[in-house]
Amino acid sequence: MRYDFPDFALVYVIASLFSLITAAMTWRRRSNPGNVPFSILMLSLCTWSFASIFEAGALSLEGKLFWSKWQYIGIASLPPLWLLFAAEFTGHKLFKEKTRWLILIIPIITLLMAFTNEHHHLLWLDIILQPNLFNIALYIHGPWFYVHIIYSYLLLFIGTFWLLKGLLVFSRQKRKQIVIIVSGVIIGWTSNILYVLGLFPVTGLDITPLSFTFIAIVLSWNTFQFRLFDILPIARDLLLENMVDGVLVLDPQDTIIDINPAALAILKHKKIHSPMGHSIRNVFDHESPILHELDNKNDFQSELCLSEKPLQYVNFSVSSIYDQSHNFIGKVLIFHDITKRKLIEIKEQEQRELAEALADTAAVINSTLNLDEVLENILTNVGRVVPHDTANIALIEINDMVRFVRTRGYEKYGTQDIVPQIKCKLSDIPNLKKMAETGQPCFNPDTDNDPEWSRDIPGSSWIKSYMGAPIIGKGRVHGFINLDAGTPNFFKEEYIPRLQVFANQAAVAIQNAQLFSEVAKSAEEMKILYEVSSEITERLNLEGVIKTLFDKLKIVTPIDLFNVAILNETEGIATFHMYQENEEQIALGPISVVDQPSFTRYVLEKGKLVYIPDSFDDNSEFPQMNIVKAPGHNERSILGIPLMLGKEKIGVLSLWAGRPNAYSDDQIRLVETIAHQASISISNAQMFEKIQSMAILDTLTGVYNRRYFYEYAENEIIRSQRYNNEMSLIMLDIDHFKLVNDRFGHLIGDETLKMIVNTCLSVLRKSDVLCRFGGEEFLVLLPETSQQDAVIAAQRICQTIAQQSLPTNSDLGPVTVTVSIGVTQLKSKEDSLQDLIDEADHALYEAKQSGRNRVCVFQRK
Ligand code: GH3
Ligand code: MG
Ligand code: MG
Repeated sequence: MRYDFPDFALVYVIASLFSLITAAMTWRRRSNPGNVPFSILMLSLCTWSFASIFEAGALSLEGKLFWSKWQYIGIASLPPLWLLFAAEFTGHKLFKEKTRWLILIIPIITLLMAFTNEHHHLLWLDIILQPNLFNIALYIHGPWFYVHIIYSYLLLFIGTFWLLKGLLVFSRQKRKQIVIIVSGVIIGWTSNILYVLGLFPVTGLDITPLSFTFIAIVLSWNTFQFRLFDILPIARDLLLENMVDGVLVLDPQDTIIDINPAALAILKHKKIHSPMGHSIRNVFDHESPILHELDNKNDFQSELCLSEKPLQYVNFSVSSIYDQSHNFIGKVLIFHDITKRKLIEIKEQEQRELAEALADTAAVINSTLNLDEVLENILTNVGRVVPHDTANIALIEINDMVRFVRTRGYEKYGTQDIVPQIKCKLSDIPNLKKMAETGQPCFNPDTDNDPEWSRDIPGSSWIKSYMGAPIIGKGRVHGFINLDAGTPNFFKEEYIPRLQVFANQAAVAIQNAQLFSEVAKSAEEMKILYEVSSEITERLNLEGVIKTLFDKLKIVTPIDLFNVAILNETEGIATFHMYQENEEQIALGPISVVDQPSFTRYVLEKGKLVYIPDSFDDNSEFPQMNIVKAPGHNERSILGIPLMLGKEKIGVLSLWAGRPNAYSDDQIRLVETIAHQASISISNAQMFEKIQSMAILDTLTGVYNRRYFYEYAENEIIRSQRYNNEMSLIMLDIDHFKLVNDRFGHLIGDETLKMIVNTCLSVLRKSDVLCRFGGEEFLVLLPETSQQDAVIAAQRICQTIAQQSLPTNSDLGPVTVTVSIGVTQLKSKEDSLQDLIDEADHALYEAKQSGRNRVCVFQRK
């Protein structure tokens, strides 16, 4: 290959030299963005220029073609390298890392075309040597050349556009770099256009590499002089760009003249794409504290909440900047994101507040021992720990029934009356059941999306989210605190532990109150029991015991009808002692407990307490009793307790109340205890009456009673008949004694009776036997006494009584009474005591008939 280098080839030499130097210099600073592609770009340029030296010098066509191919290594690679440089330099995300190489497809094809052109002539159709024109070869371009050129210009254009756009946002230093580099490219590009279009005066001379000489010199000079690609300004930029803190530079008019990516990221929620050149006042709201601070002071530092959602806090500082002549040239705003620290602080604050709230509420709910107040306090305070729409406390009662004992906030949903009425099985409410089983709180952010959520509970359809915690005491779940909300996702998951802590405190307060009320209740029960037992044991007559029992029970339970049935087991009958609420006694004859259905019989058969909360309820035990209620009574609650003395059944106590569910468990327990006490008293009274009837003296007057008199008189008659002795009988009845009682009262009546007895005893002989026959009637048996003598005695009695008077404190003055007396005597051996009594009674009747206050003798007709 022969060469003859023309003079202008020297320019190519210079171009390749300078581009090599620039390549090397930029390579040394390859950590700066864009420097690697730029350095390679300079190498391409160098290759192109270098190949151009030999292309220009080659004398043969083959030689020219050979070096043209080598030129194409630079030509084809330059546009994609330019684009890569522009992308890196401006921070443009060109393609994804993996697809970047795609831009090399066309350049590679172009290169292949160049090296294989003799086979297809797609790049160069022909090459003509022009020996007269410095031996310059004229390349006639084929179709692929135009593909290459359009593609190359496109890449050049895009890269240039990005760089020019960067002029708006970049720092002064970077802008200067852009201006120099872009001007270089434009010069080279223009030369290329002139060459391609054949507009350059020397036909076929490609001046593009020539223009590179100029570019390479300028660039390398700049690199030296102005440290164009030097580390310092770039480092400052880098520093700024990579800083974690956001930096914003304002000119004196508060226009943003520089902003780093961190600041852009911090302000990204402001939806500002490119805030460069905008006034800071357009970036922040009027009321933004940043603007406020900017207006107020020059330099300051403070913590600000930039946005609520997402939460963003910054430490924000403003410093004024001055030039060497101390002229104010702007401000630097630095944002340091402190959101994380702030979040921790907020969490800590929340925890502190929660702890305070819990301590406060614990103090409040424990401030009373009244269970109702405790429950109320729990519901008033739970909102301080977990906000909600409505709240309730449900307690587990006997047989795992759940009752909502306290509610709050349901007025808003119109269910305030429904919820307290709900009484259902624990197993019917899945969320409560789960808590009871696990002892863990339950959280249901969206009830609509929970297939297990029970929709059957009345008045609960509005509930969209739920949170609840079990109330646990002594290892057992006693109930629940339930919180509801009308909107889904109302409750935050992090509130669960709070609610549980609160529920645990509530549990302690509830337990204390329950314990206290149990103690108080048993103290109260003891008092009532003591009163009842001391009062009923004082009574010795049956009716008195029963009446006292009624009076006392009325204090502790509602009673509309009260009955004590006394059982006579040998006869199989029960006698009723029945009282209405107004204390009126209901007279009811004895009934058979053998063949007559009755509540009494039912209870006796059961042998244990029977409680019918509602006799109207067809499912209750009541219908099977098949009984007739007392006339005029249709009570719904019925409580029956067998009265037992050891194993002996002595009767049945029954309480009836008009309303259903009238008796609480506690009341029933108390009545049962009192009934045991009453059984003893009733039995005592029965015993006393029996003993009394067996005694011989009348308790009021001290004379013989009727029972004894019969015994005695019968013996006396037999004796008189045997010995033929005379014997008389006197029967005495006080006249209008009822009036005495009515006017002066029974006590005076009793005194009068005693007075009469004393008078009789003073008149009669020792051997005469006086007996109280009944009420105000007396009998006197006068052994060995003739009828005449008996009449004399009777008359003396009659007169003495009529003359006597009993002093009283009443305005009516002393009591005076008269008596009527009937007299008869034993006449035959056949006369019985009853005959004598009948005769005396007859005579007495005569005395009454004939005007009272007199003595009549029985006349046989
Ligand atoms: P008369 O015999 O003159 O026809 O009139 P009376 O008012 O006495 O009539 P009656 O025999 O019907 O009434 C008897 C009354 O005696 C009725 C009852 O209140 C009274 N009585 C009976 N036993 C007692 C008693 O132990 N103490 C008192 N204070 N009164 C008694
Ligand atoms: Mg009488
Ligand atoms: Mg009388």
